[in-house]
Amino acid sequence: MIVLCWFRRDLRLSDQAALYHALRSGLQVVPVFVFDTNILDDLEEKSDRRVQFIHTALSAMQQQLVKMSSTLHVFHGTPEAAFAYWTQQYPVTAVYTNHDYEPYARRRDAAVEQQLKNKNISFHTYKDQVIFEKNEVTKDNGAPYTVFTPYSRKWKQLLTGFYLQSYPVEQHYSAFYRQAPLPLPALEDLGFRAVENHSNAPGLEEAPASGNKRVSADTGFPPPWPEEALLRHYAQTRDFPAVHGTSRLGVHLRFGTISIRMLARMAQHLSEVYLNELIWREFYQMILWHFPQVENHSFKKEYDAIPWRNNPAEFERWCEGQTGYPIVDAGMRELNATGYMHNRVRMITASFLTKHLLVDWRWGEAYFARKLLDYDLAANNGGWQWAAGSGCDAAPYFRIFNPALQTQRFDKDLQYVRKWVPEVDELTYPRPMVEHEAARKRALEVYSKALGK
Ligand code: FAD
Repeated sequence: MIVLCWFRRDLRLSDQAALYHALRSGLQVVPVFVFDTNILDDLEEKSDRRVQFIHTALSAMQQQLVKMSSTLHVFHGTPEAAFAYWTQQYPVTAVYTNHDYEPYARRRDAAVEQQLKNKNISFHTYKDQVIFEKNEVTKDNGAPYTVFTPYSRKWKQLLTGFYLQSYPVEQHYSAFYRQAPLPLPALEDLGFRAVENHSNAPGLEEAPASGNKRVSADTGFPPPWPEEALLRHYAQTRDFPAVHGTSRLGVHLRFGTISIRMLARMAQHLSEVYLNELIWREFYQMILWHFPQVENHSFKKEYDAIPWRNNPAEFERWCEGQTGYPIVDAGMRELNATGYMHNRVRMITASFLTKHLLVDWRWGEAYFARKLLDYDLAANNGGWQWAAGSGCDAAPYFRIFNPALQTQRFDKDLQYVRKWVPEVDELTYPRPMVEHEAARKRALEVYSKALGK
């Protein structure tokens, strides 16, 4: 008899809740992963940074497992087909996995649980990717919070050392099922190609040659490791896109190549402002759990009445970084070239699309979803609805970022702008596609009329 540990967005062999419980179950553990065609088939671009990232993370896990005379089992197909296959191959009594709060993942897990139940196989799930989940942080009357500040206050009140403890998975490695290594599928077998300059994406840079603190010992992966000095100065540096002032750990949090408990412990000691950002992440995960309708609808229903202009040619210029607003264009070009965009610039570009151009936030959200290496449904949806004004605890609709003022405050010397828009002073650089003041007025009129304000 054996048990399966199903990896999804928790691609590491240390401090991992489901893996810990599986290894302690008393039975031998076979680690498994599904390259889910329900997800992969929807990806338009066949050189996708996320698929490549997952592939690299799995290879790193496989190296570790092989050293322990074990192996990862990777299936390319639907989860349903994967479990039909594995439960035929092995005498499986239980499957262990971690919670995932996205609507598709919830449907998938319910279906797999039922499939296993029909074969008398139990399904055990755990909290792993957040400190607090679902109903753990609620108002006193049990209702979910919809405003960040009181949520974060309660989050901090509830936090004890217990929630930050790591799972000592390493002590139980002897419970891995011993087996000759199985080959992992190549990217090409999955229908994908490698991305050029993938490792230049922020969060994936090579670790410095000396003082190798940033190389993770357990995955060998480039650096899912926060820099202490950076976190100490985070409050002062985080808003300036030209500076390496944020942790760039989004992708590692997204795929679980870093443990949230380890990171939150560091944040607690080094930077309250950074801890707040990790709480924003949990806030949006909690919102998506309680209000899954936000995936397709405005959190504030009345915002679904806004008559978006949705001009395809204007949207195209925004996507390509050709709006004539240097800070907007720099952000979009950074995104297109690296799969990353600085948070301050995400806010500016999202505000520009929804307010200056009156394009539906769902168009922008979908574009970011295609391009961001750290794409996360909850955070992306939260960020877009915040910018459009339609979300919980969003920027009020009449708050319209002025790109010129934002540039003056956060990129005064145009260091960031010039990096991505080197032709900014040339005649070839486009004139602004809309005039700021006129666009602002138009947005205010359209919003206030649709909202009846
Ligand atoms: P740091 O500043 O170092 O923050 C540390 C971590 O905290 C981040 O990695 C992230 O996990 C979390 N975090 C920080 N800010 C936020 C926030 N506002 N909301 C939720 N979590 C946060 N973040 C994503 O992880 N995936 C997305 O798809 C995403 N889309 C966004 C879209 C828009 C329009 C906006 C305005 C923001 C979006 N964010 C998203 C939030 C934020 O921009 C990124 O998390 C951050 O820029 C990632 O860079 P970093 O790792 O250096 O962040």
